[in-house]
Amino acid sequence: MAVREVITTPDDLLSSKSEFITASEVKSEKIQNLVADIYDTLKSGSYGVGMSAIQIGEPLAVSIVMIRPTPNRPELGHFNKEYFNPKIIETFGEKEPMWEGCCSVLDEEKNPVYAKVPRYKKIRVSYLDSEGEEQEDIAEDFLAHVLQHEVDHINGIIFTDLVPEDATVSQEEYRRRLALEKAENK
Ligand SMILES: [Zn+2]
Repeated sequence: MAVREVITTPDDLLSSKSEFITASEVKSEKIQNLVADIYDTLKSGSYGVGMSAIQIGEPLAVSIVMIRPTPNRPELGHFNKEYFNPKIIETFGEKEPMWEGCCSVLDEEKNPVYAKVPRYKKIRVSYLDSEGEEQEDIAEDFLAHVLQHEVDHINGIIFTDLVPEDATVSQEEYRRRLALEKAENK
């Protein structure tokens, strides 16, 4: 389909709630075209591991998770899934600070910025699958992390809303800190 422009902050649309869709809309041409555009837009960049429709200007509750090895996280495996109307219905344990960035939050040089955001390591999520069927999954670790970020987008929340302003660092600084943390954990 098409690579779409990704909306970046400041933009009021990113703070607005996305509309849920019906099970029959999932397979509609409109939604399937939207899914194809989100995939194309995600694939056109090398960092994104998830994207929600609102980021390409469509306030509909559609999120795609496309986990893959990235320049910053070469250890990641591959996982692809479409989530329609995703909702976190249960959380397990305490939140832990985890690094994240967003293709909608860039600095003056158009590079993503990063922060450690408190996220659950395990969640239960409900959603409609690509057949429009209701599903519930337990998600853990990195997938749980990405889903919390995407469900926030659907609720009009971006990760920088969840941390103090001075918690945000440049991509360069993020890479430096990530390397330090990896060395410490060895
Ligand atoms: Zn994002």
